[in-house]
Amino acid sequence: MKCPYCGETREKGIIESSEPINFMKEVRFVNRAKKSLGEFNLATPPLGGRASIEVFLCRDC
Ligand SMILES: [Zn+2]
Repeated sequence: MKCPYCGETREKGIIESSEPINFMKEVRFVNRAKKSLGEFNLATPPLGGRASIEVFLCRDC
C-alpha cells in the first residue's frame, strides 16, 4: 500500500494492546471510547488477551 503523502510503499503491521484501542481526537486516559465526542472503538481485547489492529507504516513520513 502506498503512502498518500510521499508515495513510498508502506509496511503492513499491527498495533496491539492489553487495553481497548480507540480512535480519539486527543489524548484521554480512558478505556471506553465516547461516541458523543466522535470517538470510536477499533478493537477490544478478549478476557485475558490482547487487542490488535492492522496498520501501515511509512518510515519516510
Ligand atoms: Zn510517506
